[in-house]
Amino acid sequence: MTVRVAVNGYGTIGKRVADAVARQPDLQLVGVAKTRANFEAQGALVRGYPLYVAGDRAPFDAAGLRVAGSVADMVAAADVVIDATPEKVGRANAGMYAAAGVRAIFQGGEKADIAEVSFNALANYAAAKGKRTVRVVSCNTTGLARAAAVLTKAYGVERWDATLVRRAADPPEIDRGPVNGIVPTLKLPSHHGPDLRTIYPDLAIATSAVVVPTTLMHVHVNHVRLVRPPPTTEALVAAFRSTPRFHVFAAWEGIAGTPQVMEYARDVAHGRPDMTANVLWENGVRVDGPNAYFFQAIHQESIVVPESIDAVRAMFELAPDAASSMAITDRTLAGPAPAN
Ligand code: NAD
Repeated sequence: MTVRVAVNGYGTIGKRVADAVARQPDLQLVGVAKTRANFEAQGALVRGYPLYVAGDRAPFDAAGLRVAGSVADMVAAADVVIDATPEKVGRANAGMYAAAGVRAIFQGGEKADIAEVSFNALANYAAAKGKRTVRVVSCNTTGLARAAAVLTKAYGVERWDATLVRRAADPPEIDRGPVNGIVPTLKLPSHHGPDLRTIYPDLAIATSAVVVPTTLMHVHVNHVRLVRPPPTTEALVAAFRSTPRFHVFAAWEGIAGTPQVMEYARDVAHGRPDMTANVLWENGVRVDGPNAYFFQAIHQESIVVPESIDAVRAMFELAPDAASSMAITDRTLAGPAPAN
């Protein structure tokens, strides 16, 4: 069975999701929809993706961009739409998908009640089986949910405090700040902990956040009190290292911070130079009695991309379990692009 997938919204997340869909053996990319006739629309055509228009088609025709149809045409040709439009636009689009009888996946900018389930592949893959609407949680919540999957299963979490150091903007965004400051998010706790509880309802976690002038990644500073702590720091490092979607750098690799993480991603990339795994440092993990401490870095532009693919597989029951779906997704995203 091949599931026909449309991507509505072709920005930071939508572009990457479309590329990921195009690489899957069991998914077919119907096309992508854009509101604006700009370089990204041109880029979609260069990649060979059918381009649909959400809104006024005239600027696309004026620019000579080849248009396949309206967003409604795209939705009608799909089994599922991955909505990657900006925050709150997904909610406005939800009626269109429902009226067309098409399933939908929304992103973390939407509130949890937009979908039947909030999703993370490691944490609750089975909960999305057969669902018609799924929400892939945000980049920070995805990073926390993956870590929670490791910690809750192996050790139990009594109490978790996390401080999120958040990037101010994505690399192409020239109209966002700050450029010289550290801006605390004056909401305590920040929304990330409550968002994680859409997947782990009973988890005792409190988060706070500060925004810093960087575009590369977020960094989480974690202190977790464990119920059944591992005997050693090495055991916790090994637990992270042996879990899919974690990348643990060893000390000899000389990765001092997020600039080197993303340089590494650029060095090894077959497709987009992204880092879809939670990034940990071997020397940035410590177990002290019941307390575990670890840093993790999150590439906000790409971490939710494999999750969106696994969400499709879960909804259409294309794979028996999370591990099988994640293995296909991770293998196809790491390798060379398929010939088309
Ligand atoms: P973005 O602004 O980079 O891209 C959104 C795209 O949708 C733009 O190209 C915009 O022109 C287009 N668009 C606007 N209205 C539209 C409409 N009605 N129909 C079709 N397209 C429309 O946004 P993004 O960063 O990709 O975020 C998309 C979603 O993913 C949001 O829910 C966001 O919260 C979530 N998310 C973002 C990040 C991140 O760090 N960028 C990480 C995880 C999740």
